[in-house]
Amino acid sequence: MSRRADRCSDPKPRGECPGASPCGHSPHVDEETAMPDHRKLGRELGLFDTDPLIGAGLPYWLPDGATVRHTLEEYIRTAERRAGYRHVYSPVLGKRELYELSGHWQHYSDDMFPPVELGAEQVVLRPSLCPHHAVIYRSRGHSYRELPLRMAELGGMYRSELSGVLGGLTRVRAIQLNDAHIFCTLDQVADEAGAALEMIRRAYEALGITPARYRLSLPGPGGKYVAAPEMWRRSTALLTGVLDRSGLPYEAVEGEAAFYGPKIDVQVADGAGRESTLSTVQVDFHQPERFDLHYIGPDGARHRPVMVHRSIIGSVERAVAHLIEEHGGAFPAWLAPTQLVALPVSEAELARAEEFVRRCDELGLRAELAGPDRGTLGARVREARLIPYQAVVGAREAADGRVALRLRDGRRLDPLPAGEALARIDALVKAHSPELWDAA
Ligand SMILES: [Zn+2]
Repeated sequence: MSRRADRCSDPKPRGECPGASPCGHSPHVDEETAMPDHRKLGRELGLFDTDPLIGAGLPYWLPDGATVRHTLEEYIRTAERRAGYRHVYSPVLGKRELYELSGHWQHYSDDMFPPVELGAEQVVLRPSLCPHHAVIYRSRGHSYRELPLRMAELGGMYRSELSGVLGGLTRVRAIQLNDAHIFCTLDQVADEAGAALEMIRRAYEALGITPARYRLSLPGPGGKYVAAPEMWRRSTALLTGVLDRSGLPYEAVEGEAAFYGPKIDVQVADGAGRESTLSTVQVDFHQPERFDLHYIGPDGARHRPVMVHRSIIGSVERAVAHLIEEHGGAFPAWLAPTQLVALPVSEAELARAEEFVRRCDELGLRAELAGPDRGTLGARVREARLIPYQAVVGAREAADGRVALRLRDGRRLDPLPAGEALARIDALVKAHSPELWDAA
C-alpha cells in the first residue's frame, strides 16, 4: 500500500483562477487501500448523483449534499467577510472579446467550451472569473486608499472536459469556484498572500483536512505561458518570499503555473495517494496590464495594481469530494447534513424526543427524530452511525428532562439536562470546531 503521490503529468498550464485544476486522472478506489471512493459514497449517502440524460460531468446535488454544500459556502462567505472581502455576482457568460483580452482565448481555448453564435456576437461559457472581476474593478475609479480591494465570488465556471475522464465531483464540466481577487499595490502583495495562506490553514483545521504538500507552481517549457521573463521573475520572487516567511515546507514544480503567473498550490491526496490542487494563491501582473487597470496614488498619478488570485477551498465540487473521502461521510459536526438524531427508547418517550427536536430547530441545528417505528434502539443507532450526536431518551431521561448523548466516535456521556447538551453542541457547531465534544 502506497501513499506516494502520483505526480500530475498533465503539462497544460492552468488557465482557470484558483483551485479547479485537475490532476490528469479520475480517481477510483485503490483496492489495496480500501479508502472510500467519493462517487460510491456520495450515491450511498444520498449526497449527489449524475444522470446520462443530464450529461457526464454534470452532477446534481441531492438534499443532504446540498445542505453540506450550502453550509460550506456560508462558512467561506463569513470567513471572507470577516477578512475584509466584499462579495459580487457576475455572469457565467461573456463575449469572446473578453477572453481574448484576458489571454484565455490564446492560452487556454483547448479547455473552453466552443463559443455560441448570438447574432453578430459570440458568447462563451467562462473558463474563469478573473476577467469579469477585472472589468468590475475597472468600472469605477479607485484611490490608493481603497487598496487592498478584496473582491470575492462563489461563482460558476466551465471546462470542456472530455467525457472519458469525467466521474463524480472531481472532474466536472460545471464548476462552482470559491474565488477572490485582491487588487493591491506591489508593497501589499506579500501580506495579502500570507493572509490568504492563513485563511487556508484555518479552513483546513475546521474541515479536518490535512494538506499533502505545498507546491510552488512555476512555468515549464513551451509556449503556453505569457512571455514576460521579468514579470515571472518578480512574481516568483514574491511567492517564494511568502512561503519562506510562512515556515511551511514546499516544493517548486515546473509546468504547473497558470498561464499568467506562478502559484502557491495546496495539494491534497486521495485514498490512493493521488494528488490534486484544492487551494491556491497566485500573483498576476499580466491581467492588470491587459485590462489597463489603475488606481490613483498619493502623488495624484495613475498606477498599476497587482492582482492576487486566491481560493480557500478551490471548487466546491472538489472540496466536497475530498471531504467525503477524507471523513468517509462522517463530516465535522458543523458540516454534517444531520447533526443530531433523537432516539426515544419507546413510544412513551416520543413526545419528549419530539420536543427535543423542536428545540434543535429553534437553535438552527439540523436534527431528526428516529422513533421506535424505525426499529430497535440498536438498529436505529447503527442507522445513525454517521450522525455526530445521538440523543437517547429513555424513561428516566424523559422524567427529568435529560438526554443521554452518544457521540459518533463511540463515546457515551452521562445524561445531561437537554438545555445544557444543546448549548454545548451549539457552541461547538457555531465555532466550526472539528471536535465532537469539549470536555468542560
Ligand atoms: Zn482569478
